Amino acid sequence: MKANSTVTLIKILALLCLSVLCVSQEFDFFYFVQQWPGSYCDTKQSCCYPTTGKPAADFGIHGLWPNYQDGKYPQNCDSKNPFNPDKFDFGQLYPPVGWSVKQHNFTSLNRQVKIADLRSSMQKNWPTLACPSGNGVGFWTHEWEKHGTCSESVLDQHGYFQAALGLQKQVNLLQALTSAGINPDGRSYSLSNIKSAIQETVGFTPWIECNTDTSGNSQLYQIYLCVDTTGKNLIECPVFPRGKCGSEIEFPSF
Ligand code: 5GP
Ligand code: 5GP
Repeated sequence: MKANSTVTLIKILALLCLSVLCVSQEFDFFYFVQQWPGSYCDTKQSCCYPTTGKPAADFGIHGLWPNYQDGKYPQNCDSKNPFNPDKFDFGQLYPPVGWSVKQHNFTSLNRQVKIADLRSSMQKNWPTLACPSGNGVGFWTHEWEKHGTCSESVLDQHGYFQAALGLQKQVNLLQALTSAGINPDGRSYSLSNIKSAIQETVGFTPWIECNTDTSGNSQLYQIYLCVDTTGKNLIECPVFPRGKCGSEIEFPSF
């Protein structure tokens, strides 16, 4: 009898553990990463403007990356959920000429239109600068498949891209910098002034990633902010990535 109840207790405990594992997060927080186009281009590898034209001289989204508290991160989590660019293409032709709106299911119509909105906003705010020139789909596919699939329990494909766009709207990095007198003019600025300008405006401490220009100077390449697991709220970073900038870094024009 006693042995039986011990076995039952162990079974219950095992079930409890499993259920905790099942609902537990696949990750602890996101890095929201934006890139300065001038620094992507001002390198040995150089850059190519998207087929849709030269992007604005502003920070563009690189990605929204699920991460663990210990600094490690998951990647390529679900090959069965590939990026679906068709969804992004539909909306522009929608509704087809001659269709009466009454003929169609409203939920589906609203969703298509929402996705169409996302596409133009992504071209503007998440432009690709890699060579050869692309329309963005290659970059977005990479970001969804490598990072987005690792937060799919929280954000579906549409939600993932929408969350990143929403975060970018919340934080105007260029304005934070220029209002502190830090301008993309090819001059060098102190790393600590750059960080405090962002900290004071955005309310959270950023991580700055540098790369090097063709002459080997350290320059402001990417800015990381941390976001909670909903993908909506900025938080202080639980851990910063590794890497080093100089104490004075260049802010190239674009
Ligand atoms: P990640 O750093 O996110 O792992 O990789 C970025 C990938 O996206 C690379 O394969 C890179 O060639 C491609 N890519 C396309 N456009 C861009 C861009 O504008 N910026 C960056 N950083 N990568 C881009
Ligand atoms: P400190 O400890 O004075 O803040 O920074 C010392 C050095 O650490 C800096 O010169 C820089 O190389 C590196 N460092 C500090 N903060 C950051 C940062 O946000 N990003 C990067 N990449 N390096 C940093």
